[in-house]
Amino acid sequence: MADDSCTNCGMLLNPENTNCPKCDEHRYAKNRKLTLSIDIAHARQTLAQAEQQLDQAIEQAMTEQFGNLKIIVGRGLIRDEIHRSLDAAQWQNRIRDYQPEKYNQGAYVIQMHPCT
Ligand SMILES: [Zn+2]
Repeated sequence: MADDSCTNCGMLLNPENTNCPKCDEHRYAKNRKLTLSIDIAHARQTLAQAEQQLDQAIEQAMTEQFGNLKIIVGRGLIRDEIHRSLDAAQWQNRIRDYQPEKYNQGAYVIQMHPCT
């Protein structure tokens, strides 16, 4: 997030630059193939805090153009609550799709919309 040089040519970017002024590479082009991973269940979060963290994680993934977002939800109440929130987020078209991580029911993997 604090990385402020172009991933393609190394040119220093200003905070307002969405694209590199030199080579036109998108600021977050590299993130499109990457997964942003956020744990919202292992710091004694309340349900409300977990919801808020999910919301912030989705915002961050959208802003920084991550291809996928992995949300670690644990196996308790937060998991059920987040399942509902993800349903809503998908319905609102903020995320493309989601499913429990393969071999790990304590995490969801969310596909973000491809960026234009
Ligand atoms: Zn550049």
